[in-house]
Amino acid sequence: MDLPDKLASWPRVPLANTPTPLHPAPRLTEALGGPRVLLKRDDLTGLATGGNKTRKLEFLLADALAAGADCLITAGGPQSNHCRQTAAAAAKTGLRCCLVLGGEPPARCEGNLLLDRLLGAELHWVEKPRRKEAMQQLAEQLAGEGHTPYVIPIGGSNAVGALGYVVAMYELAAQLRQFEEQVDCVVAATSSGGTLAGMVAGARLCGFQGQVLAISIDQQPEADGTFAYRDAVRDIANESCELLGSSGGITDSDIHINHDYLGGGYGVVGQPEREAVRLMAETEGVLVGPVYTSRALAGLIDLARRGTWAPDQTVVFWHTGDETALHAYGDEFLTD
Ligand SMILES: *Cc1c(COP(=O)(O)O)cnc(C)c1O
Repeated sequence: MDLPDKLASWPRVPLANTPTPLHPAPRLTEALGGPRVLLKRDDLTGLATGGNKTRKLEFLLADALAAGADCLITAGGPQSNHCRQTAAAAAKTGLRCCLVLGGEPPARCEGNLLLDRLLGAELHWVEKPRRKEAMQQLAEQLAGEGHTPYVIPIGGSNAVGALGYVVAMYELAAQLRQFEEQVDCVVAATSSGGTLAGMVAGARLCGFQGQVLAISIDQQPEADGTFAYRDAVRDIANESCELLGSSGGITDSDIHINHDYLGGGYGVVGQPEREAVRLMAETEGVLVGPVYTSRALAGLIDLARRGTWAPDQTVVFWHTGDETALHAYGDEFLTD
């Protein structure tokens, strides 16, 4: 199915190698005893290795360039894949890049942090809760010095960034048609929400029949059942549809977020994440990362063992690309 006209002609800076591969994972499937697992390899988008932020950045960079920006500002954790990909996108387009990182500079510069520096980004360390405010302050300061800064929200998660995953759902749908595959469920990690919002919007627009199931990395409902995060994902998904001239009409019931696998919190590696990294590595020769994809895969593994899917059903595990962060965790993955 072709992209809707408005999406096909939306300004976009080419950064990603797409379509990313979609391939079976037969030995992982066998180890789980089903369902049949396919891997969608957004770890191979190719920008300073790859990852899901690259698809969002194609749209965000075009927006930044249209606004006359000469400098990108974004924020994340010290091992942020989003920051790494933003630094690479800035380098490739000749923009300056300022990263606001939450926490203290670690003793050793490794993993994504090392790559941020090699990609020429300027690092600004602030306490984690101050990241948004610090981005605004930095933007004002740079504007005062005669620059034109462009602030990309954490994770690149807004309606423009999410268009990257609307395109990605059309891409998946085209691959499934080409390979004559039917998919019951797509499983992916969710944290700042833009990827999920784009997938949900794209699924609606391209008529994807399966379920999109997000495994929450760090977001959960309040005790009273309100779930501000799901509301935010729904709003971004509807805004993305509206940008494309569609009414959207996405409601809470269209958004499936499982928050049973939060473990020890954001960036804390536990036994399920360790098992997931090893299982994928030893069965498929594919590396998943410490913070996002190992947790999402651990969720898929547990759900499979609980019989969530029949052995003949097909599940796509969407690899969103964080294996570069493994290098900052080192021996945490070697203890059992
Ligand atoms: C950012 C990220 C996610 C989550 O995507 P959001 O759009 O922030 O929800 C998943 N996996 C990896 C590897 C990421 O870096």
